[in-house]
Amino acid sequence: MVLPASAQDKGLVGIAMPTKSSARWIDDGNNMVKELQAAGYQTDLQYAEDDIPTQLSQVENMITKGAKALVIASIDGTTLTNALENAKAADIKVIAYDRLIRDSDAVSYYATFDNFKVGVEQANTLVEGLKERFPDVKPWNVELFGGSPDDNNAFFFYDGAMSVLQPMIDDGSIVIPSGQMGMDKVGTLRWDPATAQARMDNILSANYGDKQLHGVLSPYDGLSIGILSSLKGVGYGSGDMKMPIVTGQDAEVPSVKSMIAGEQYSSIFKDTRELAKVTVGMVNAMLEGKEPEVNDTKTYDNGKLVVPSYLLEPVPVFKDNYKQVLVDSGYYKEDQLK
Ligand code: BGC
Repeated sequence: MVLPASAQDKGLVGIAMPTKSSARWIDDGNNMVKELQAAGYQTDLQYAEDDIPTQLSQVENMITKGAKALVIASIDGTTLTNALENAKAADIKVIAYDRLIRDSDAVSYYATFDNFKVGVEQANTLVEGLKERFPDVKPWNVELFGGSPDDNNAFFFYDGAMSVLQPMIDDGSIVIPSGQMGMDKVGTLRWDPATAQARMDNILSANYGDKQLHGVLSPYDGLSIGILSSLKGVGYGSGDMKMPIVTGQDAEVPSVKSMIAGEQYSSIFKDTRELAKVTVGMVNAMLEGKEPEVNDTKTYDNGKLVVPSYLLEPVPVFKDNYKQVLVDSGYYKEDQLK
């Protein structure tokens, strides 16, 4: 009997996602399930609500259930080592999804976006916005936010952004009035919006009594929303207090709406449909004993090995191009953004 593709049983693939608190990961999970099922796999999709022990036990459970491959977007890239040793011993293939898994030699491949470039683009959009909204100001007052220090990506985003901003700080066109620089000072544990909002509140009250803020480097839309509420709370965006340029990442619906409303300035779109396709291609190839396609074999040293990677292109998005990038591509329906 010939089974239709979807009814083939190629075995179980476990998908461990960090949290449902951010829509991008919900899209990632759904896209992965869709693509894997279409390729004939069964799926076990789990979310860990940003709790490390929960994610660990979910991964252990997938191993016990006999998964053939694990696709993991880790919460803390360093905490899965022991579980993954068991996976390796059982010949279960492990793919790091979006976020690098560190300190483990059980990881075979990494599917992600060009994370350094994400940071470069965030800073480029920030500078573009500063020139556009504050053409006559010199220097621009800017504050920096970083992602979660247990997420390897956060360092790539920050370093990418600083490759653009540091020369401008050095030549005096940008100043950081709080003086807070470096991931140890600007990191935001678990990418928590409330943490970013509180830090923005503190920075404003301690440094901006007689100064105007012009720009904020924010690495993720959720943080941008928190930062924007802090800014609005002290009057930015009304009267003669122009809204500072605030960046973001993931083009999540609330942030796209915020861009349309003229609040958040930019975001970085990462097409999770493409990431799912690349990842499923990797799973398939590995389980068929073939070599998955990669396009980077240098960048992602996880402490044990340089993990062969496939990097997708991030796309900057603004009020002016969101229709083309997000709606015409079918990622969102126009209605969702109203
Ligand atoms: C992802 C970003 C996301 C962030 C917070 C990072 O690892 O690459 O797309 O904004 O986590 O969820």
